[in-house]
Amino acid sequence: MKTDPLAATQRSLPGLGVSAGIAIGPAHVVETGVVQVPEYCLPEDQVDTEKQRFAEALTKARRQLRKLKAKSETLPEAAAEEIGFLLEAHLSMVTNSRLTRGVERRIEDRLNAEAAVQAEIAEIAHSFASIDDAYLAARIADVREVGSRLIRNLLQHDYQAFSVLPPGSVIIAEDLTPADTALLDPRVVAGFAAVLGGAEGHTAIMARSLGLPAVVGVAGLMAGLRSGDTVIIDGIGGRVIVNPSAETLALYRQRQDERAREREQLKGLRKLPAVTLDGTPVVLNANVELPREVEAVVSAGAAGIGLLRTEFLFMNRSDLPDEDEQYRVLCEVVSGMNGRPVTARTLDVGGDKLAVALDGYFGEPANPALGLRAIRLGLREPRLLETQLAAMLRAGAHGPLRILLPLICSVSEVVRVREMLVTVARRLKRRGVKIADPLPPLGVMIEVPGAALAADALAAVADFFAIGTNDLTQYTLAIDRGDDQVASLYEPLHPAVLRLIQFATEAALRARLPVSVCGEIAGDPRYTALLLGLGVRELSMVPGAVPLVKRRIRCLDLNAATRRAHVIMDQSDSARIAALLDGFNEGG
Ligand code: PEP
Ligand code: MG
Repeated sequence: MKTDPLAATQRSLPGLGVSAGIAIGPAHVVETGVVQVPEYCLPEDQVDTEKQRFAEALTKARRQLRKLKAKSETLPEAAAEEIGFLLEAHLSMVTNSRLTRGVERRIEDRLNAEAAVQAEIAEIAHSFASIDDAYLAARIADVREVGSRLIRNLLQHDYQAFSVLPPGSVIIAEDLTPADTALLDPRVVAGFAAVLGGAEGHTAIMARSLGLPAVVGVAGLMAGLRSGDTVIIDGIGGRVIVNPSAETLALYRQRQDERAREREQLKGLRKLPAVTLDGTPVVLNANVELPREVEAVVSAGAAGIGLLRTEFLFMNRSDLPDEDEQYRVLCEVVSGMNGRPVTARTLDVGGDKLAVALDGYFGEPANPALGLRAIRLGLREPRLLETQLAAMLRAGAHGPLRILLPLICSVSEVVRVREMLVTVARRLKRRGVKIADPLPPLGVMIEVPGAALAADALAAVADFFAIGTNDLTQYTLAIDRGDDQVASLYEPLHPAVLRLIQFATEAALRARLPVSVCGEIAGDPRYTALLLGLGVRELSMVPGAVPLVKRRIRCLDLNAATRRAHVIMDQSDSARIAALLDGFNEGG
């Protein structure tokens, strides 16, 4: 039997390591094939709306293809040229082509868009196949791929079942949304890699929460990779190795063992307090994406949940959770924490966090990160927010709970939500429903530069601050946190970001408000000395980071850290700041 000599050749692909750890296992390449499509006859008055829906799917496809094309330009020259041609051909198929015109005609004949795409693709493929030309025959695959992309976009087909994989599988995909990632079960999936994605996007955060090694922004990942191939995900070094040699495998298995030993040692810290060398206590809380993490929070020794992202309640479903359902889930989290405080954040969809069930509330924003996101949506659609507030008030009767508002920009937003909270509480009490008494503290995320600069005013209307450095960095530096192309410019150590953190922290301390940092830097021991030096005494992070940060705190001289923070705040250059911080961390 003839074997393919290239099949087992080791390939090593660089990317962004976004979740530490090493995974080794068989690849599961996420299928991009044609999915089952519904077919129905449109009512006469629906034709224009359907054409609009098709136009939106085309716009989305063009955006996806342009993104892939930009990505492919970082490949070696020959590969970049070849893939560039291919993507250019795909782009022209979704831009006023025979395909788009044919689909529009079929919609005018009252066929739904998905079925119209499928029928048009079949007809084009048939006409190509009847021509005796090898080049055209090969183009059939392209036409089908473009058709699948359009159908996926029309169906918003972004949830996949990952549960039927062989244990230890490694997911390989063009793109994984935060909602896709939420479906990954760490008992089945060992890690993942994707062509797209940035270090601080929510997919990356979700991976860290689940403790799944992950690399994103990997150009050329999908080329020639088949399900079943052995893959190594090096989430520390930011590398994907396909078909590793025996030596490489042995090396990575050894690294895996070393990491497991370190994790075991860290467990010894679980019961020890998070205090600096001079005895100053620091509160270490956990960020939670999914309720199933509560066990990990408790076993990591976290003092409480500093950020419960409630987006999970809305993901991977096409309807909205009602008050009772939200209450039940929140109640489970509060009870699971056994008296430790829980800070629940109201819904923060929009930007890179999308929920299919809420699609009807959004138009197609030109700038999703600047659009109808988070608290803005809640204030525009009060029923959504009131339902959440009611569920939170009820869950607060079962244990200490605080309510946190995302993407706050102004005092009036906080005042309006507080009025809503009081009204909802009154309504529940009238109905005899048990709620938190007194009402839960109402806090604000400081994650927009405007909010940081208005921190004194916000401190007068809020009960606590949580500084979200992920968005604060994104909005201060105008860097999309989820875009691998600008990932190298995403710099939380930029002096402007640090000044905003300092300004907001000092405003909170002056007003005697509790203040925490809950962005990703809170869970990275590299930043601990600086944040403590700036006056922060409460940090919230992925559960797995709690022991690492605790270890750093327990050997930290707070006076020295404060002095170093002062020196750092006098600097104007991120590289100099990084050097001063790293020097301090290394004992210099
Ligand atoms: C942040 O922006 O820092 C934050 C914690 O919120 P999220 O990552 O959910 O946007
Ligand atoms: Mg945020």
